[in-house]
Amino acid sequence: MSSETFSKPQRRSFFVADLKCYMCGSVYGSIESEQSLTAAPGIVRPVLLRQPGHDQPVQAVNWKHLRCDRCNGPLFLDETDVVTRRYDNYNWLDERPRRGRPPKRLIEERRRERDLLESQAA
Ligand SMILES: [Zn+2]
Repeated sequence: MSSETFSKPQRRSFFVADLKCYMCGSVYGSIESEQSLTAAPGIVRPVLLRQPGHDQPVQAVNWKHLRCDRCNGPLFLDETDVVTRRYDNYNWLDERPRRGRPPKRLIEERRRERDLLESQAA
């Protein structure tokens, strides 16, 4: 008997980064994309933008056109990181407690995931 037909959890990598202001250093928000944010500097792809004070992420077609809302300065990518998320049959909306306490980072990722699902359902 083979387990090959079992659906494997899907892993997807997301590139995440903070958008910071060149001029005043304030954090504008954070962006994420399934494509590398830095590999091809000439190509700007749509990203998902999250801003402090905003519950829902929005799509930013070209984040390089965004400006600091404090001083109107240009923004740059700070603290780029890659996160891998697992997509399986687990229902992210279901808050059943699982064994042990998930690490803080996981909680944060789940919260983001929920935000994403909710924004897609809306
Ligand atoms: Zn600024």
